[in-house]
Amino acid sequence: MRSDGVLRERIARKFKIKNTTGYSLNALIDYDDAIDILAHLMIGSEGTLGFISEITYNTVAEYGDKASALVIFKGIEDACRAAVILGEQPVEAVELMDRAALRSVESTPGMPTYLSEVSESAAALLIETRAPDKKILRRNIETVSRALNDMDLERPLQFTDVESEYSKLWNIRKGLFPAVGAVRHSGTTVIIEDVAFPKEHLAAATLELQQIMARYGYDNAIIFGHALAGNIHFVFTQDFGSQQEIERYSGFMDEVCAMVIDKYDGSLKAEHGTGRNMAPYVEMEWGREAYVLMERIKTLFDPHRLLNPGVILNPNPRAHLENLKPLTATSAIVDKCIECGFCEPVCPSKNLTLTPRQRITVQREISRLQAAGDDPAQRDALVKSYAYDGDNTCAADGLCQMACPVAINTGELTKELRRLKVTGTPRETLARSIARNYGPVTSVVRHGLSSVNALHCLIGTQAMQKIAGAARKFSGNRLPLWTPHMPTGAARRKNPGTDRGSLKKVVYFPSCISRTMGPARTVGKGKQQLLSQTMERLLVRGGYDVLYPPGMEALCCGVPFNSKGAFRQADEKAAELERVLLEISDNGVHPVVCDTSPCLYRMRQTMDVRLSLYEPAEFIHDFLLGELKITKSKEKIALHTTCSSEKMGLAAKLRRVAEACADEVVVPDKVGCCGFAGDKGFTYPELNASALEELHDQVCSCTAGYSNSRTCEIGLSLHGGIEYSSIVYLVERCSRERG
Ligand code: SF4
Ligand code: SF4
Repeated sequence: MRSDGVLRERIARKFKIKNTTGYSLNALIDYDDAIDILAHLMIGSEGTLGFISEITYNTVAEYGDKASALVIFKGIEDACRAAVILGEQPVEAVELMDRAALRSVESTPGMPTYLSEVSESAAALLIETRAPDKKILRRNIETVSRALNDMDLERPLQFTDVESEYSKLWNIRKGLFPAVGAVRHSGTTVIIEDVAFPKEHLAAATLELQQIMARYGYDNAIIFGHALAGNIHFVFTQDFGSQQEIERYSGFMDEVCAMVIDKYDGSLKAEHGTGRNMAPYVEMEWGREAYVLMERIKTLFDPHRLLNPGVILNPNPRAHLENLKPLTATSAIVDKCIECGFCEPVCPSKNLTLTPRQRITVQREISRLQAAGDDPAQRDALVKSYAYDGDNTCAADGLCQMACPVAINTGELTKELRRLKVTGTPRETLARSIARNYGPVTSVVRHGLSSVNALHCLIGTQAMQKIAGAARKFSGNRLPLWTPHMPTGAARRKNPGTDRGSLKKVVYFPSCISRTMGPARTVGKGKQQLLSQTMERLLVRGGYDVLYPPGMEALCCGVPFNSKGAFRQADEKAAELERVLLEISDNGVHPVVCDTSPCLYRMRQTMDVRLSLYEPAEFIHDFLLGELKITKSKEKIALHTTCSSEKMGLAAKLRRVAEACADEVVVPDKVGCCGFAGDKGFTYPELNASALEELHDQVCSCTAGYSNSRTCEIGLSLHGGIEYSSIVYLVERCSRERG
């Protein structure tokens, strides 16, 4: 290749713009060392040359001072012309959006109102500039604004350096892909394509692309992209359910590829992978010689074509039109899933059983087999294996929703499937009975925990572990797992609450978990106080009188019922608690604190908006930190943010509270949902173990761990090798008067 001047020149020219079509042939001209060449050939090879087990990213500096502007132009040509000018300016990002893209998000809550008022031919550039300090940022803004002075804009150019404001602008860009996903019909999929052109051709090529899309009837298609790189994405929905639709897609792809290659010598893939969809067009883009070179590279690595066959190089010109997977409707909760896999890394069961995407795929297949009715044995086998892989090992925490571009919560699917299994069965009768006798039931649990603790005291940890392990094994894993970190039974408090005539009052609702589960014997030499006592002491220290909901022993937010699929009982318990809280808080005049993050999350989702509901770290952060005299501890502590706190956006506040109390705070990487999931840590402890497999090494040098959910803390203590307890204990300890 190096001796072929024409090919060499072609490779160099094509890689002047972004290109990921086929293999990274630039590795052959950019490097001399064989290892460097191999390493760079592997990049973007999509598993067709080998398996990359670990990579290191060298990242660029992330400056704190940023400003953004959404600039509205009268047409796409003007926007693309401006992008060329901006290429010479101090800008970090310039994102192009066509009118259809702006339209797709204009009615989404939080979008600027003027989006719906721009002209039909308008196009926008979202510009960001960053700087190491405010002075340079101001200078950048002036320079960029001056550079666009001569442009004819639909609205005056205005930068904002206020985070809440520029976040709104970036939400326009982030919302584009989900917006198309959200409006598609069931059974269709969303396709996102990725092409690049030399910058000088961007305007003409974008206009041409719009015309092709219109000709083929892709009416809801949108275009956006990274204008500085001449790289645009187009997103459209596609039905693969009929031959006619497949042929429409085929014609469209042929025409787009011909336009990109023959007319502009662009890239068919600029940053996404070639995959199977673009594989039939690789030779068209690169020509015979380069294609043969790619074939030779593949053969060197994989002579028997075992690695990801058919991907990147595929001799079948219709490979992108064959073996298309139907997207059978299975449940409205997940039917919008495009199987992109963004949700997979956050799932606690990803290394044990299934990921959210896989759960949805299996459910789709079950529905397909059900509808086809031709292979009941296979359907039954899938249903059977899904019981463990899909249902029992789903923590139903819903963390997957945060990563999903179309906001799918696979945990909701899990709970819905559980509801179908529970409704009308003896399990529902049992749930009803538990809900109606909640006070006595929690009392039984409390006494059960006390008895187990007494036995533990009596026979010691080793013997207890052996007996409990044998009993669990004998029961076929029906008995819960016992560990030394098991909670003791929480003693029932008589007449809790304070009345010191303080002007500030707070309603404190200890969750049923903290009313029944006391500290573990392993914490504080078995002398740690109850969470509710500690919380109350802290609230009083902050100047509050503490009110408790009357009849508290029978109250519950409904989380345990909801997670088991007993929705009716969950809603009844939540409604009962809501009534009591409204009354005791004087219809929301006094704030309400619940000490368990998942319970507070559900309360916020289901209860009257008049109630001001707080998670403990949030209440401490917002109302107590300023009142307390904190003496920072010299400790290095670990912090775990629960899924519900993540979903409520409280991670930063939790961290700030921890940092106010301890010298060093470790928030371990790669640890998301702990997988304890209320009681699953007792019944399916392998989920907890798998979710926390990276924890120990990251926190074992800490003196203690803190969180805000009692059950999560049991599993964290077991797998972290340090004792976890509520963050309330830390704040209370650090705010004691020193004498
Ligand atoms: S559920 Fe997962 S795979 Fe499906 S669309 Fe959401 S992120 Fe993608
Ligand atoms: S709810 Fe949790 S466990 Fe279930 S699929 Fe989503 S991330 Fe995975």
